Amino acid sequence: MNLPVDPESVKGFLDPAEGARLYELAAGTAPLGPCLEVGSYCGKSTLYLGSACREAGQQVFAVDHHRGSEEHQVGEAYHDESLYDARAGRMDTFGEFRRNLDLAGLTDTVVPIVAGTRQAGRHWRTPLGMVFIDGGHSEEAALTDYRTWAPHILPGGVLAIHDIFPDPADGGQAPYHIYQLALASGLFEPLEMVRTLGALQRLEG
Ligand code: MG
Repeated sequence: MNLPVDPESVKGFLDPAEGARLYELAAGTAPLGPCLEVGSYCGKSTLYLGSACREAGQQVFAVDHHRGSEEHQVGEAYHDESLYDARAGRMDTFGEFRRNLDLAGLTDTVVPIVAGTRQAGRHWRTPLGMVFIDGGHSEEAALTDYRTWAPHILPGGVLAIHDIFPDPADGGQAPYHIYQLALASGLFEPLEMVRTLGALQRLEG
């Protein structure tokens, strides 16, 4: 694994073992088609995906409205005051995200899409080698991300989902629910899980 900057210098909630797994999955699927992630935040996962794709001459589409998920808002558990735009009265992670892309030299590899899944997905037609879902963790947000992006994954491609907690005592269930939906669809087979990072491979046909 060849990373241009230390991933621990980037704000975010991704374990290094999960990051290494993302890198491995992105490298493996890059020959098929581009990678798309939902929920870039400050770009920690983008650093892993982008580095793997740059090496393979592939691109990453990084979808995020950059207004923070539910848990990032003022008063919530994962709020970071330094990412709050007082003038707009909202979170704004895009500046930090772009700064990290610049530092990592990934601006030619990563295409930021500053929009939510509904807007970004509405006219999407490009088949994808990999989709990484790490957006909002409400049932509605996770379901929208799954329904919007999973149909674009090419046979042999990978759907990766972060924050999978099979035991409700460990965390929210929405990511686990869409993981189960993907399995139940019969269109995917499970790959090895690394910590809370689930991955499934799109079957042929
Ligand atoms: Mg996450």
